[in-house]
Amino acid sequence: MKIHFISDLHLCEEEPATLRAFIDYLAGPARTANTLYILGDLFEYWAGDDDDTPLIRQVSDALSALAASGTALRFMAGNRDFLIGQHFASRCAMRLLPDPSRLVVDGRQVLLTHGDALCTDDTDYLQYRSQVRDPEWQSAFLARPLAERKAFIESLRTRSREANARKRPEIMDVNQDAVAQLLRTNDYPVLIHGHTHRPARHEHLVDGRTCERWVLADWRGQAHYLEWASGSGTARTLAPPA
Ligand code: MN
Repeated sequence: MKIHFISDLHLCEEEPATLRAFIDYLAGPARTANTLYILGDLFEYWAGDDDDTPLIRQVSDALSALAASGTALRFMAGNRDFLIGQHFASRCAMRLLPDPSRLVVDGRQVLLTHGDALCTDDTDYLQYRSQVRDPEWQSAFLARPLAERKAFIESLRTRSREANARKRPEIMDVNQDAVAQLLRTNDYPVLIHGHTHRPARHEHLVDGRTCERWVLADWRGQAHYLEWASGSGTARTLAPPA
């Protein structure tokens, strides 16, 4: 059983190298995986499943081709693309997962989360998160015209870039108590998440139990994936084409 985990590609028209790396990855290493888990922020932003651009079509075509080749696809939303819905998921032949989600790999408990909910020191962000993750807010937002939604997201991106530049870096990392609490309430699993763009393998001692925590890398023009096989993980980078 071989499983791949990726996150934080932040696909957008402004970053064609990342799109190319993704298309190459889907046609290459991803084909050797039984299942590919995408743990959020696949896109830089998502305005709604009715948005249709050449980039979105290229991504959904490549994902559904991967699924047709025999790799199962699972998607968990990130803080950028949480508006991805069943319509787009069906187009890509991927199944939507709630955050967090548990699975068993080769007999080991694994817990998946995007990671933003663990950044509990960033109280401004958590307040924003609870607003935009509210189903009522979402259906009201999605009822607005697409152009209006895109303009709103654009202004939000500018404001968040400005706000993040003012925040101390440690505020935007996961909170250790939040991690410990999540591990405790989920039977001390292997934890895999993205979001912070601080790729690493950590070990946490919680209640006398040692838990692994893998942080996935963001892409920025290069494919990064965590490959899980025979009970352990390996972080891999796909060299960009010469
Ligand atoms: Mn994120």
